[in-house]
Amino acid sequence: MNKERNIGDFLKDNTKKIKNKALLILPVLHEAFAKNGSQGVTDYCHSYIDAINDTTGLTAKTSCAPGCHFCCYGEIKLSYTEATVIYSAIKQFMIPVDKQLVERQNRKPYHRLKYMNKRCAMLDDKGKCKIYLFRPSVCRLYNSTDDPKECNEQHKVPDTETLRTIEGLAVMVALMEFDKDQGNNKKYMLQKVLSKL
Ligand code: SF4
Repeated sequence: MNKERNIGDFLKDNTKKIKNKALLILPVLHEAFAKNGSQGVTDYCHSYIDAINDTTGLTAKTSCAPGCHFCCYGEIKLSYTEATVIYSAIKQFMIPVDKQLVERQNRKPYHRLKYMNKRCAMLDDKGKCKIYLFRPSVCRLYNSTDDPKECNEQHKVPDTETLRTIEGLAVMVALMEFDKDQGNNKKYMLQKVLSKL
């Protein structure tokens, strides 16, 4: 388990290890797909990341608490497989989506949006995730170990200190490889997925 302020640096320093681990996970994703489609794949990935977070002690060190949403003001990239499952879950459980916010988010490039418009459209009024059980892998990898006060001041600090695991990131790489094997080469953005609802 490593302590990093930047996910890009962590990826660069551990590329080979992450790729090797992802290659071991990939066949398991194909098996999960054969048994239970996209739902089987995402169930496996999400349980895997949650278990790694627990067994490495990351969960115990995490200072995030219900209502913390500092990390939910950024562009959320997800795999096609996860996008499919989230889209279906929102429809099935009739989870309300702030359509006006989604429209504002899709009107211009994400980095040019005002801070408040970068708020994830799946956050409720109390700062809780409306799709917590189905939230994508990338959200499961953000575990701040900073004093929560650091997170409450609208990004006055460039990034919170977080812990990363090679295994957790390997799941994301395996998911992208799985998408490619299924003929989907691009990453999806949550705000684009939500605009299709
Ligand atoms: S999906 Fe949920 S956890 Fe992820 S950014 Fe949106 S509100 Fe936050």
